[in-house]
Amino acid sequence: MAGKDYYEILGVQKNASDDELKKAYRKLAKKYHPDANPDNKKEAEAKFKEVNEAYETLSNPEKRRMYDQFGTADPQGFGGAGGPFGGRNGYYSYSSSGGFDGFGDFGDLGDIFSSFFGGGFGGRSSSKNNGPRQGADLKYNLDITFEESFLGTEKQILIVRNEICNTCHGEGAKPGTKKQTCSMCHGTGQIKQTQTTIFGQMQTVRPCTNCNGTGEIITDPCLECKGKGTVRKQVKVTVKIPAGIDENQTIVLRGEGEPGEKGALKGDLYITVHVKKHSIFTRKGQDVICEVPITFTQATLGADLEIPMVDGKKEIYRIPDGTQPGTKFTIRGKGFKNINNSSQGNFVFTVLVQVPKKLTKEQRDLMMELAKTMNEQPPIKKKGIFGI
Ligand SMILES: [Zn+2]
Ligand SMILES: [Zn+2]
Repeated sequence: MAGKDYYEILGVQKNASDDELKKAYRKLAKKYHPDANPDNKKEAEAKFKEVNEAYETLSNPEKRRMYDQFGTADPQGFGGAGGPFGGRNGYYSYSSSGGFDGFGDFGDLGDIFSSFFGGGFGGRSSSKNNGPRQGADLKYNLDITFEESFLGTEKQILIVRNEICNTCHGEGAKPGTKKQTCSMCHGTGQIKQTQTTIFGQMQTVRPCTNCNGTGEIITDPCLECKGKGTVRKQVKVTVKIPAGIDENQTIVLRGEGEPGEKGALKGDLYITVHVKKHSIFTRKGQDVICEVPITFTQATLGADLEIPMVDGKKEIYRIPDGTQPGTKFTIRGKGFKNINNSSQGNFVFTVLVQVPKKLTKEQRDLMMELAKTMNEQPPIKKKGIFGI
């Protein structure tokens, strides 16, 4: 799928302000609203959807930032052959809090459990009008290891969501049977009522309750989905985790949420990543932090240290003679990748000088010899006491 230029669709500059976006959107939405184009409804509807999609993306600062960053890729097909992350999906957004909760910890089930999110997250402009409603978004919490967040990974998760029924293809009617036009609204899906009030005659329009606004009645419902047009299914979704992803960052898979009403877009799947703690390493910004124990002779004489890296490799790092306890050393470019650009953090380690608890007789004798040559206590620094 070729990328769409949302700015071009809305006819605005790349640096358009929120106000300019809104103005452009309003103008175009009015122009292409299907109700305003009875003669070429289909075309108008397609255009209308496109305008909505463009505005939905650009009016959301986070989505706009990502859209700008990833070029003109269409999120629905984003990450396809030409996408920066390959694979089927790969549309990332980051939020520090997630903003939704209520999903318990399912313990050992780990990746198997699924979480639901039915609240119409994100407030879509396209669902406010009378058009078909977009599918609900889903939310999933994904635990990954420290190494996985460092190197990136691909995970398969199982979610339960509604899928279009294969038997009736979402129609809800038993294959081979016809739906009947609703007798209450005569197929319009709307009930108009005229009331006389003190202000004069008022007409109200509400969706038909007999057919739920569809204009049609299913007399012979599909056995598979019982007339709903969708069935609840467990589906496997593959999610690419970029190297460098941090705790609580969220990956958005467009169109992997619940199906929408007929003709509407599917919802999205929001996967919030949680990184398990590591026994040796911690993360600070883009840097990997670690403590490395050394012997006092290594500190005194200097040494080539073997430093374990997060990817399992080792780096040889030379510390100088006279290294003091608590000294920090930095190995450049061995930290976390930045998911937004090509920069990479550093590996920062602090040396912990260990004093031996037990010595062999030979070591003790050698130490005694050494002590004789340096048995004066170093002077107490005044600075330390008086803070000068
Ligand atoms: Zn069905
Ligand atoms: Zn009706």
